[in-house]
Amino acid sequence: MLGKTLKNRSKTLSTLAIGVVVGGAVAGGGFAVADSSAPRTDRQITNMTDEVSKIKAYYGDTVDANGEHWASPDSNYAAQVRSIENQAHKYLESKIRHDRSGKKAIVLDVDDTSLSTYNYELETTFVYNPAGNAKYIATKTMPAVFGMNTLASWAKQQGYEVFYVTGRPETQRAATTANLAAVGFPATEDPSHMFLKNTATPPPYLPCGATCTVIQYKSGTRAHIESLGYQIVANFGDQYSDLSGGHAERTFKIPNPMYYLP
Ligand SMILES: [Mg+2]
Repeated sequence: MLGKTLKNRSKTLSTLAIGVVVGGAVAGGGFAVADSSAPRTDRQITNMTDEVSKIKAYYGDTVDANGEHWASPDSNYAAQVRSIENQAHKYLESKIRHDRSGKKAIVLDVDDTSLSTYNYELETTFVYNPAGNAKYIATKTMPAVFGMNTLASWAKQQGYEVFYVTGRPETQRAATTANLAAVGFPATEDPSHMFLKNTATPPPYLPCGATCTVIQYKSGTRAHIESLGYQIVANFGDQYSDLSGGHAERTFKIPNPMYYLP
């Protein structure tokens, strides 16, 4: 989510995306799409208050003494994430068991794939604001999405290079790297393997430059990673725009019912 412009951030509180995406098809569910057509009556709209309550129940909302919201490790959200991670673990393990050659890699999105923005979303009532978001990222540490830090660290130990590809702006590089390290994510072998959006000086391998869509930016960056000699065995994201456009052998969709990014 973070680092995208407000106009690009269309929300759907009624979209619960589930499942593992393989070659563009979703196992266990359909593609979630933000439907912006005008409802004919209010009965076609999910009540916002009810939907927020459902989101909080799904994440197992807990509130600490400072009023910060946390997802619970025994929530349905955590269980669903763990199920997807178990599939990814088996897949990554089988890939290296059968073929140890070459430079293998995984790609991780950051927000709501690696780090949970759940507390930020509740603080802002799901309304994204670039300045407020930048302040949050500069001053707070987001928790890991349950188990993703363990999965990424394990993959790194098995010989996978871990690449991060995020829509956060280049100006948030230090805070993002520090947050990931603070909650147990492995460092990349090379700091340049952390990709953030650089609209001021776009990299030459992205011909769309400063006007790239999320899909163009992310898939183009994965193509660049491949050009460095890496085989992207798995790509993890919470948005379909993280996963579309190819340049990964398999994609894993982390659930995120809080917002939709085209
Ligand atoms: Mg994300």
